[in-house]
Amino acid sequence: MRRGRVAWGVSAVVFAVALGVGVGWAFRDTDPPQLWLELPEGPYAAGTPFEVYVSADVPVRFTLRYGDVVVDEVAAELRASLLAVAGRRVVQVDAEAASGLTATVAREVVALRPPAVALEAPDVLEVGDAFAVWVGAAATDPWSTEVVSAALTLDGVPLRLHTATDGRWALASVPLEAPAGVRRLELRLVDALGGVQVEERELIVRANPRPIELLQLSASTLAVVTPEGRELEAAALDAAFAAVPNMPRWSEPFLLPLEGRDTSGFGAPRRYGVGGNVSYHQGADLAAPTGTPILATNHGVVRVAGFYPIKGGLVVLDHGQGVTSLYFHQSAIDVAVGDVVVRGDVIGRVGSTGLSTGPHLHWEMRVDGVPSDPMRWVGERYPLAARP
Ligand SMILES: [Zn+2]
Repeated sequence: MRRGRVAWGVSAVVFAVALGVGVGWAFRDTDPPQLWLELPEGPYAAGTPFEVYVSADVPVRFTLRYGDVVVDEVAAELRASLLAVAGRRVVQVDAEAASGLTATVAREVVALRPPAVALEAPDVLEVGDAFAVWVGAAATDPWSTEVVSAALTLDGVPLRLHTATDGRWALASVPLEAPAGVRRLELRLVDALGGVQVEERELIVRANPRPIELLQLSASTLAVVTPEGRELEAAALDAAFAAVPNMPRWSEPFLLPLEGRDTSGFGAPRRYGVGGNVSYHQGADLAAPTGTPILATNHGVVRVAGFYPIKGGLVVLDHGQGVTSLYFHQSAIDVAVGDVVVRGDVIGRVGSTGLSTGPHLHWEMRVDGVPSDPMRWVGERYPLAARP
C-alpha cells in the first residue's frame, strides 16, 4: 500500500515537471520570477538614506521589507530610498508573478551610529593652571562606528592629544598673561564613515591679581642679564620643549624636588627696580642651604644640563606629553643630557648661580613651554588625575 502511493507520487512529480517545461516553452510563466537586488556596499551611516534597486524578468508584485518599512508595488523594477537603521538588518524583497509563482531575494546590511563621545574638562581655571582634557567613549555601543581623527583647540589653538587605553588626553596650561574671561574649547571628531561631530565647551579663566613685588637687585647681580644670555637660554629651552614627545613618561604623582621654604610663589608679578617692566614669576622659589639635593619630580629624560648666565646651573627634564620640569641656580649638576632619570633621583644641588641673591631652587613645571604652578603638581598625576 505504502509502496504504491510513493510510486504514484513520483509519477505525479515527473508529469508536473514535464508539463511545466512544455508550458514554459510556450508561455514562460511557470518559472518563478528572477530577481536582481542592488545595494551599495555597507556599512551605512545610521539615519542616512541608501538606495535599493530591484528588477525582475517579468512584471511582479514587489514587497520590500526593511525594519518597519514595507514597500508594495507592481512593476518590473523597484527603486526605493531607505533610511539606514543602526544594527544588522535584512533588506528582503518578495515578488509574485501573475502566474502566482513567487521568488525572494534578501541581503543583510549593517548601519552604524556615530560614536557617542564624552568630553571632560574643568569648568573654571585660574591663570597659570595646568589642566587636562579627556575625550572618550560615552557608552559602549556595538553599532557605533569608530573615531578616526580627533582635534582639540582652545580659542582656535590646537592642543596635542595623545591616545591612551581609555581614550584621548590633552594637557595644557593657561598662560599667566592670558586675559581672564571665557575661553572656548572645541572638539572636532571624524568617524570611520566620514561623519563629523563638533562639540564645544566653555572654560572660565579667572585672574589671580596680586600686588607687584619690587625686586631691588644690585647692579652687579643684574649684570648677568644680557640680550645674548637671554637668547642663548631661550634657544636651549625651545630646543628642549620641541623634543618632548606626545606620550607621558610618568605614571606616578609628581614630587616636591626638595623640602624648602617657599619664598616666592608662582605667578607673582614683579619689577626689577623701580619703573621696570612687570614680569611674572614663572616658577616657585624654594630656599634651602647650598648643596641640598634636588630630586627629579618624576620620570624623565634630561634635555638640558649645564651652566647658563641667568638661570645658572640648569636642568630641564622631559616628562613626555609636552611636560617639562626646570631647575635653576644649582651649585652642582649630577646628570648629563640624554640621561634617563627616575622619580626621586638626585639631579643636582641647591645653589645661587645666575640671577640669584641667595641659595634656593627656582622650580618650574611647563606644558608645551607654558609655565604652570609647580606646587599644584605635587601629589598629582596629571592628566590621569583629571577624571572623576
Ligand atoms: Zn624664582
